Amino acid sequence: MFDAEGHEDGPACPACGAAPTWRFVYAEGFEELECRACGWRSDEEALHDLRRATGEVLEREHGDTAPPLGRPLRA
Ligand SMILES: [Zn+2]
Repeated sequence: MFDAEGHEDGPACPACGAAPTWRFVYAEGFEELECRACGWRSDEEALHDLRRATGEVLEREHGDTAPPLGRPLRA
């Protein structure tokens, strides 16, 4: 199991709005949020989406409008 430390200082739950959520800080360097009211959890995939969205914003701020790499077209 991961070694996590819980803090009751997370942001409001995006599912039910309860605050604060529990914030678990892992020794590996990432965080998870858990809502004690409705059971909502931010899983790893959600965190990846969050970072990807942030990265897209930063790339746009750099003005780099390079087209996406070609994808193989297979039906
Ligand atoms: Zn909740």
